[in-house]
Amino acid sequence: MGKILLSTPTMHGEELKYIQEAFDKNWIAPLGFNCDNFETEMCEYLTGSVKNFHALALCSGTAALHLAFKLAGVKRGDKVFCSDMTFAATVNPVSYEGGEQIYIDSERDTWNMSPEALENAFKKYPDTKVVALAHLYGTPSKMDEIMDICAKHNAILIEDAAEALSATYKGRKMGTFGKYNIVSFNGNKIITTSGGGMLLTDSKEARDKAFFWSTQSREKAEWYQHEELGYNYRMSNVVAGIGRGQLLHLDEHRQAKEKIYRKYQEELKDLPLSMNPYLDYTVPNFWLSCILINKDCKVSPMDILYKLREKDIETRPIWKPMHMQPFYKNNDFVTAGDNVGEDVFSRGLCLPSDIKMTEEEQDYVINAIKSCF
Ligand SMILES: *Cc1c(COP(=O)(O)O)cnc(C)c1O
Repeated sequence: MGKILLSTPTMHGEELKYIQEAFDKNWIAPLGFNCDNFETEMCEYLTGSVKNFHALALCSGTAALHLAFKLAGVKRGDKVFCSDMTFAATVNPVSYEGGEQIYIDSERDTWNMSPEALENAFKKYPDTKVVALAHLYGTPSKMDEIMDICAKHNAILIEDAAEALSATYKGRKMGTFGKYNIVSFNGNKIITTSGGGMLLTDSKEARDKAFFWSTQSREKAEWYQHEELGYNYRMSNVVAGIGRGQLLHLDEHRQAKEKIYRKYQEELKDLPLSMNPYLDYTVPNFWLSCILINKDCKVSPMDILYKLREKDIETRPIWKPMHMQPFYKNNDFVTAGDNVGEDVFSRGLCLPSDIKMTEEEQDYVINAIKSCF
């Protein structure tokens, strides 16, 4: 048995077919038919429509977030309400534009942004116009509540669905709720292009504007004419071929991820811990299975992490909340009372959730976890 990892790419072969086509046509460039088709196929997958929904393939999810914040009009000094417990990529692009993140605590039912804390933040900073929401580990957030609050305060919602591609909330896919949304195809995500991301929006104008920025903001002129700051953010036509092949297997990946989660849930049920929670009217993509150790239990996540590392099993702490990061020590943090993020961080752990993991390997992981209690 080799090292058991958290989540690694799973390729199927179709990816190579699309790459081969790019080679055959010598279309080894950013932009091109694979990018165009990947965008169309993603819109179809997410909404069933290519008329009312638009995608822009980019070199990373972070680039997509950056353009989303630009589209939302975030400027120097503007406050943005951001998920607190998430990967830094959700929130860093706010700083690229000189904005200021106000961190919103999590709630216990999904570990995502607390609607109550968000309301409190609007009381404190009523002029805030942008909310950036991440769905942790593929678990949908409390969308009805969050959308209502955003509508009430006239705020633009940006959905970071980097971890939640294929997850649904009341039947609707994540990445389609916000005015601007993003997904990621980084190497560890549920489908991957080695690296890449997509911006998703119902506004064709917004998609066109983001396309313009992502291709160096070249004005329509024979010479190189620039009236705005530009970026080189487009996805390569070769890489998009991987994405097209992967998209064919997205639902199959989701099912395999769920199977892993269910097995952990069943086999660990007698231990003093619980699995990462979700709402029963949502379907997570179960990107990563996580555990939360009971409060009264003496075993800490790091005890398990070190012990499993000795057995060649990779685990990882929950995303350390942004308000606890030294880089963001001056940013405000708003809660609904107690500090949920800090508590989950102190008791939570991500488990191996690689869909190539065999039953025997997962049994090995489960036994290793049991031996810690
Ligand atoms: C992976 C991830 C991103 C960033 O995506 P990249 O494609 O790696 O730039 C953003 N937000 C969250 C929550 C992520 O997990």
